[in-house]
Amino acid sequence: MVSDPAVELLARHIRDVPDFPKPGILFKDITPLLADATAFRLSVHQLAERIAPLRPTIIVGVESRGFIFAAPVAERLGLGFVPVRKPGKLPYRRVTESYDLEYGSGTLEIHEDAVQGERVVIIDDVLATGGTAAGAARLCQKQGAEVLGFGFVLELSFLNGRRPLGSHPIISLLSY
Ligand code: AMP
Repeated sequence: MVSDPAVELLARHIRDVPDFPKPGILFKDITPLLADATAFRLSVHQLAERIAPLRPTIIVGVESRGFIFAAPVAERLGLGFVPVRKPGKLPYRRVTESYDLEYGSGTLEIHEDAVQGERVVIIDDVLATGGTAAGAARLCQKQGAEVLGFGFVLELSFLNGRRPLGSHPIISLLSY
């Protein structure tokens, strides 16, 4: 976790939305954080600062809210950005992986030449069950990339999302 005033500032800008997108899900809405210049900058800077020591060569972001954080973190670290996308969005030859998540299941794709031989850190907004991030990691590993760790703005620790991510370092700015 980041220092207390920073945690408080970020936490103040996360909105809980009950029963979205399905009954029983408490959705963590990050749009107030994005709309606040100080909170958004702080989240990007904290992620970049804590990811830098892993010494990645490229940053992978998971569609769609992961892109919002992964792209500025990559830019701040002087690195490139690679999108992991939902099916049918990437134009070139793709590698595909299916995964389970808190409210359903899904499929992710990456361009087949995007992360070969790279040292990657994978970024998303929320770590819930870990299915999405684990699927993104498998995609990268299928291409011979080394997964160094993961970065999230927040994690829902009661869903044990760290378990499917193995022993890789997991950075999350807020934990619920
Ligand atoms: P999971 O694969 O279960 O770790 O789910 C992570 C993905 O689903 C992330 O891309 C999140 O954006 C989204 N997600 C899952 N649960 C929530 C939640 N309670 N609030 C906000 N986003 C969520």
